[in-house]
Amino acid sequence: MECRPEVIDTACRVKKVPQKSSGFFTPGHVAVGIALWLGSAIASHAEEAQRSPPTDTGEVRAVRVEFDHDGRPRNVEGRVVIEATDGGMLVAADDGVLWTIERDQLRRRDRLDSPFEPLTGDELAEQMLASMPSGFRIHTTPHYVVCYNTSRAYAQWTSSLLERLYKAFTNYWENQGLEIREPEFPLPVLVFADRQMYDAASREDLPTGTGNIVGFYSLRSNRVNMFDLTGAEAVRDAAGSRSAGLRRGSMREINQMLSQPAAVPLVATIVHEATHQIAFNCGLQTRYADIPLWLCEGMAVYFEAPDLASTRGWRGIGRVNYPRLSTFQNNLANWNDETLERLLSSDSRFRNPQTAVDAYADAWALNYYLIRYKPKEYADYLKTLAEKRPLVGDDPQTRMKEFRAHFGDPHRLEQDFLRQMSRVK
Ligand SMILES: [Zn+2]
Repeated sequence: MECRPEVIDTACRVKKVPQKSSGFFTPGHVAVGIALWLGSAIASHAEEAQRSPPTDTGEVRAVRVEFDHDGRPRNVEGRVVIEATDGGMLVAADDGVLWTIERDQLRRRDRLDSPFEPLTGDELAEQMLASMPSGFRIHTTPHYVVCYNTSRAYAQWTSSLLERLYKAFTNYWENQGLEIREPEFPLPVLVFADRQMYDAASREDLPTGTGNIVGFYSLRSNRVNMFDLTGAEAVRDAAGSRSAGLRRGSMREINQMLSQPAAVPLVATIVHEATHQIAFNCGLQTRYADIPLWLCEGMAVYFEAPDLASTRGWRGIGRVNYPRLSTFQNNLANWNDETLERLLSSDSRFRNPQTAVDAYADAWALNYYLIRYKPKEYADYLKTLAEKRPLVGDDPQTRMKEFRAHFGDPHRLEQDFLRQMSRVK
């Protein structure tokens, strides 16, 4: 088993697209990692996968492992997600971090008699504080542990946005008949006061730097990393003198900054990444499972839809995502017989920086159409995806077969999809 960091959206680049509203640009994402890793590591382990055996009372048994990590020994207590016959393991630690451990990295493993227990919010908070330099503080809410070194007001603003999203997202899918469960782990979020510190602290997930990525969700650590957007250059420049004289980090300053159009796509990115985190923690999707990127990304983009009319930058679900619609409609002339099948069966367009922005727009359009016009079929398809286990890869034929089983003939669907989406204004 190969050990590599996993981030859903990496190498995010910001590309200007023609917009009706001025100053609006689309954060684009390139998803790498999952499928690359799936492709290389899964095939030989798929049938061998097994999970932690239960304790006498039927609970998941805890395990303690010691292994080499970057040349140093590391001790982790958690539960075995997968144990391969070659001795490799995928372990979920009690803080929610996933560890892939090769056989030759493993020094020792002890199967404990006790059941596996995830950290509580307070325990996770303590662990996060201990891992950060001095100056960090904690703000907890029912689902989140926010560790921050920016203003308390900004941490509160962020967690209130996240809780609002959490509630909206889980209610929405519950109403569609999906089984939603409380997250196994408290959801960790790191908010850095400035971009430099955020960049430096994100190297384990993004070794080449954060580039234009203003926030990301890591499948490996289960954490969302971000920085205080009121310090983002685009937002500060736009706010200019209007915010002069306001106390740094005050609620008034935050509102002032976030009412700038330049802030909206930044907030959309935070909502996008937080949507991934919720989807992978509420039972809808499983980390390291082979969720097609057209669905995984399209759903996150569906929820991120920014709202220029609201100073909160985000108001609710299902609004037309105009930046994505504009990209999609501009590309319609290039849509051909193979476009849909390629989108459905392969993740490659999402991983290629040259095609990623267009692939995200196509994914938004397809998810928007399916959620709106085929809600029952979409919910049933999500149930199929919810069953997918970690490190089991699907070939393109399987993806197409599963799509067909829920939505029928893709080419017939395509005609209605293109007709409906060309009318959206
Ligand atoms: Zn994403």
